[in-house]
Amino acid sequence: MTAGTSVSVDVLIVGGGIAGLWTLARLKQAGYKTVLLEAESLGAGQTRFAQGIIHGGTKYALTGKLTASSEAVADMPALWRACLNGKGVLDLSRAMLLSEAHYLWSTSSLTSRVSGFFASKVMRARTNELDEKTSPALFKHADFKGQIYALDEPVFDAMSVVQAIAEPVGKSILAIKADSIKYNNDRLSVKAQDDQRYEFDFKKIVLTAGQGNEKLLSELGLRQPEMQLRPLKMVMLRGGLTEMVFAHCMAGSVNPRITITSNHDEKGEVVWYLGGQLAEDGIARSDAEQVLQAKAELAELIPWLDQSKCQWATLDINRAEVKKPGTKRPDTFYVEQQGKVITAWPTKMALSPIMAERILEIINNEKLSCVNDDELPSWVHPEYASLPWNEESRWLM
Ligand SMILES: Cc1cc2nc3c(=O)[nH]c(=O)nc-3n(C[C@H](O)[C@H](O)[C@H](O)COP(=O)(O)OP(=O)(O)OC[C@H]3O[C@@H](n4cnc5c(N)ncnc54)[C@H](O)[C@@H]3O)c2cc1C
Repeated sequence: MTAGTSVSVDVLIVGGGIAGLWTLARLKQAGYKTVLLEAESLGAGQTRFAQGIIHGGTKYALTGKLTASSEAVADMPALWRACLNGKGVLDLSRAMLLSEAHYLWSTSSLTSRVSGFFASKVMRARTNELDEKTSPALFKHADFKGQIYALDEPVFDAMSVVQAIAEPVGKSILAIKADSIKYNNDRLSVKAQDDQRYEFDFKKIVLTAGQGNEKLLSELGLRQPEMQLRPLKMVMLRGGLTEMVFAHCMAGSVNPRITITSNHDEKGEVVWYLGGQLAEDGIARSDAEQVLQAKAELAELIPWLDQSKCQWATLDINRAEVKKPGTKRPDTFYVEQQGKVITAWPTKMALSPIMAERILEIINNEKLSCVNDDELPSWVHPEYASLPWNEESRWLM
């Protein structure tokens, strides 16, 4: 076996989802020679499945009181908007904003149960009640009898964010073959997707491989931190939909009963993407049962929606996070350093910026003597992952 091309870097990042890419961009801005390794395509893990909502904490305050989760995300909408306007830590002016706001609605049958919540001080500070004129088009319908609020939570097309971050730093991203990482004598060797071999010397390695972190930790001889997976069964529908919708339906519990986001597919058709409690509970259902449940939920919550032309699909996807007792959702992002290894999970796409700042802070504190030469071999770069609604084989029903 040939030794491969030797490359010395300050920081090696493994995993090209939103977490790794945001970290790469920030470390390069700070002057560190940094390379990111991606085994599939950029965004291929959870990121391309994200609904793209930059939560400001309202979703987590649905019980009417502020939780640790809602506090951690409170500043994220402003931070992401600054980036979108070209005035933030990263330039996301080429990313696609799908909606300025996410909305929250209750049906008339739910309103009495949640009216205390809507009136609460916590919610008044973060939401704006809408009337018939200011409501999104779907909720202007005569049959809509509930309440609707606008949340200060922008919604982004997740893959357009991936592209906006990756393009300027693309030369530093290497496409490697899955499972080709070998760690030996403090060096990491990989096989690139074009079969070239590379040997990396690094001062720090950052693991942002989502679900892949567990295996990487074991390759590096570490048992901690432990990871948890929280599965979802999301639903997509298309056909005859005219409105783009970005809204949670409130049901008076911690989780929204349903969360709808929308995209245009490659043919320009509107696709609705459904998450929330429907997707959490859906893991116990077959694909066909989940579609039936989604149809029933929409029929009850948006009875004026014509479903007759809709085509449906389900989508199984895990959220990968640091392990919590009882597999509870972590309150915020997770970053931990053990020697040369930094392991990170953002927990939410929205939290990637503050996760990356924490990694940068750790690395700055180390006062590394930086590698001076900035040259990298011209190597094979990964593609961008496709969006699930553009994959025809998923549309079965
Ligand atoms: C259905 C769904 C909806 C969501 N909606 C939202 C939302 O609206 N708002 C929000 O803020 N968050 C949302 N999230 C959470 C958000 O998507 C994740 O927190 C975020 O995308 C995680 O990013 P990541 O970069 O850590 O991981 P990933 O996106 O999973 O990226 C990991 C990358 O590492 C690569 N990789 C894995 N192993 C290796 C290896 N050995 N070598 C090299 N590369 C490797 C993978 O190919 C992948 O590209 C949602 C999550 C899901 C599942």
